[in-house]
Amino acid sequence: MPGADGSGFPAEHLPYGVVSVGGGAPRVATRVGDVVVDLSRLARDGVGGLDELVGDDFDRPTLNAFMAGGRDRWREVRARLTELVCDASQRTRIEPALVPAADVTHHLPIEVADYVDFYSSIEHATNLGRLFRPDAEPLLPNWRHLPVAYHGRAGTVVVSGTPVVRPSGQRRAGDDITFGPTERLDIELEVGAVIGTPSTPGRPVPVGDAADHVFGLALVNDWSARDIQAWEYQPLGPFLGKSFATTLAPWITPLDALAPCRVPGPPQQPEPLPYLRLDGEWGFAVDLSVALRPAVARGEQVVSRTSFAGLYWRLPQQIAHLTVNGAHLRTGDLLASGTVSGPERGSEGSLIELTRAGAEPLRVAGATRTFLQDGDEVVLRASATVADGVTITLGEAAGRVVAAPGSDEVGAG
Ligand code: CA
Repeated sequence: MPGADGSGFPAEHLPYGVVSVGGGAPRVATRVGDVVVDLSRLARDGVGGLDELVGDDFDRPTLNAFMAGGRDRWREVRARLTELVCDASQRTRIEPALVPAADVTHHLPIEVADYVDFYSSIEHATNLGRLFRPDAEPLLPNWRHLPVAYHGRAGTVVVSGTPVVRPSGQRRAGDDITFGPTERLDIELEVGAVIGTPSTPGRPVPVGDAADHVFGLALVNDWSARDIQAWEYQPLGPFLGKSFATTLAPWITPLDALAPCRVPGPPQQPEPLPYLRLDGEWGFAVDLSVALRPAVARGEQVVSRTSFAGLYWRLPQQIAHLTVNGAHLRTGDLLASGTVSGPERGSEGSLIELTRAGAEPLRVAGATRTFLQDGDEVVLRASATVADGVTITLGEAAGRVVAAPGSDEVGAG
């Protein structure tokens, strides 16, 4: 396949997304090198017997039908696609399904069922604890015993590239309660897990089976209005400060593609309760970064680099905990990791941490930033080494801030 080497989309990757071309119907696709492969076309043409494996599941505007088919089928299809893209003799059969990556429009790849956002990075939870409660223990007493989370708003998950309108809401300044556009718009660098196989209502998913339900991983930006959040969050947690938009990358990377970069993850003390005790290596050595392109600046600058490998609460533990009360998984559930931060300066996954709540502004591409200005663009990126000399790049989660309705977008700041 052309351009597969060094593109981040070698044959070892084969992520799934939903694209349209020239105003046509959205359908399921994968990407290899610089081209997008229209999988609905391959299946319709019966290439490699794909039609028998997937029926018309690729001829849909979301991945949900395919994801509901379960892990054995995902593996069969992935093996078949790997053969097809690596086999030069199939080239002429695949050719009609190839589209230059620059020519496609990306759509939200999944119909999001429930959206849950965890809080699983101990560095992030510690950093925020220190900022908000400087005189107390940074971690609340429950944090090391269970993976803390909140339920977010599934309907406002948007695909990468969708503009993010600055939200308005209530803020508190001293004794004054005011209403207006947020003055503390922030990002959160996260990795989301997409659920494929549902679970049975009333039946907790054992920690050892949890990963069987996971279709793949993708970058997530949990945009956050810190002033709205700070006033509203007690006692029930985030609400309007986060529900206005959550950006999801256009490509879902299959969990199997990331199997080679699994690592042990950090020790957990105290030992979790039995239902959360996990065998095996469930950290992922995925490098993450946040790039910021300030409005009117000429370029972008990376403001944070960190790793997903050190996440304290692992994905199977998050799933076991989420379902332990009998709540079940649905196809299309999105479980985000929570902000991923590292222990060093420059490895934090949010501006509130990077700028110490605004006290230490960043110099970014010639501009100064604490929180985001209208016209700023944020791009989250991730890559992982999956074989000697083979690196895959997860789909980006990008978004540009648009002025609140009724205010002039100045673009400078
Ligand atoms: Ca979050």
